[in-house]
Amino acid sequence: MKLSGKKALVLGAGKSGTASAQFLAERGAVVALHDKNELENWPDAARSLKQTHNVGLMGGQIPSWLLDQIDLVVISPGVPTNTIPARYVDRNDGEVIGEVELAYRFMKGRIVGITGSNGKTTTTTLIGEILQNAGIETQVGGNIGTPLLSLAESSADDTWTVVELSSFQLETIKDFHPNAAICLNVTPNHLDRYESFLDYALAKHRIFMNQTADDVAILNADDVITASWTKGLKANVSLFSVKRELDEGLFLRGRDLVCRSNGKEKILTTRDEIFLRGLHNVENVLAALAAGLACGASPDSMRETIVNFKGVEHRIEFVAEINGVHFYNDSKATSVDAAAKALDALSENQGKTVLIVGGRGKNAPYDPLIDLIERSVRTLIVIGEDGDNIESQLRGYAEIIRAESMRDAVRKSFEHAQSGDAVLLAPACASFDMFKSYEERGMVFKKEVLSLNAQAHAGEAK
Ligand code: ADP
Repeated sequence: MKLSGKKALVLGAGKSGTASAQFLAERGAVVALHDKNELENWPDAARSLKQTHNVGLMGGQIPSWLLDQIDLVVISPGVPTNTIPARYVDRNDGEVIGEVELAYRFMKGRIVGITGSNGKTTTTTLIGEILQNAGIETQVGGNIGTPLLSLAESSADDTWTVVELSSFQLETIKDFHPNAAICLNVTPNHLDRYESFLDYALAKHRIFMNQTADDVAILNADDVITASWTKGLKANVSLFSVKRELDEGLFLRGRDLVCRSNGKEKILTTRDEIFLRGLHNVENVLAALAAGLACGASPDSMRETIVNFKGVEHRIEFVAEINGVHFYNDSKATSVDAAAKALDALSENQGKTVLIVGGRGKNAPYDPLIDLIERSVRTLIVIGEDGDNIESQLRGYAEIIRAESMRDAVRKSFEHAQSGDAVLLAPACASFDMFKSYEERGMVFKKEVLSLNAQAHAGEAK
């Protein structure tokens, strides 16, 4: 793709847009970077491109005359594609792509793509480790945080690049072609941005659209949507299931994770060797094993990686044990569904769970938690802006205690827990009422747990 002299407009001044604008400018394009926010609110990294790369910066409305002058539009995942009028898209020489597509056109080597409504980051991270430990030249990026463009230069013919992909990123690919592609699951999500559930599912399905008979498509046999895709793909389909034995594919049988291929079976690992909690994580491990096999990793090296994989920060992350109480950080549980998953995963424990819940509510009902609360929760510690609402919806199902801060929540949860219990931060809410991000919320939780731990060891607590 020739960029020199092209007039390019990049939409969205976040990480992805900033990487795109810089990449294009470094290759001789004339670049304008636009964001609907006014310039003074842009991140410094985007604003500094004016001095460092001679990028034109535009905040607010896109001027109506501009698009007719533009050869290429690169659109960030956070910007709706209909921001660019269909009239421009129809123009023969104008092109609208995303950063992933732009990166793809400059990348060498092979690609594993991972999408799905849930489990992307965990599975992407695990596949990265599996390939690396198998001695394969590996890099990891995409939606997980490192823009794919920043990996283009370092890719070589023998590299495998492992890419996490959101539905938004998949909307703006054209030629992007993963050699192995996974869709973990498709459940209602982001329906504010899609016309319908079908439209959202179609965006996810695009991960397979450029695959050929030389490629592998890895699908969840237990998910109604992804299971329905097995027919009609050009790639070789590899299925996984935690619910039933498959004639061909990877599945859970009792505690064993089994691969069955051409009538032969091999136990790749067992649930007891997986540190991550919950059946949903067994799904992620099966998908990662399928990807590892597709990329040529040996079963022995994969097993060793699985045994040593401690998961990803803020996802049912084990923090510490204090006097028999195990503390877990699932700050990433920003929705009721995700909190339910975490609670369910810990309900396998002998003891009960003290659940720290609350934050900025998302107008979703909390009642999907009720069964699990009745079954496994000792006490609810409620924090944040949506506290009154949570209390009114969950009153009567478990003891409810209000806390003023994360410090207060950690202390009160420890006071109410018994030896053998878990304390779980799974807020079911966004973090922005008290924190900058879910990451900051998780960090503060961990800091408070570790300070309590230090006091307990010094003999001051309990
Ligand atoms: P994503 O990157 O897709 O948001 P993560 O790996 O970050 O996924 O996990 C986010 C949360 O989603 C986890 O804390 C867990 O509650 C839930 N989750 C993870 N894997 C799965 C899965 N395979 N199916 C359903 N839910 C999952």
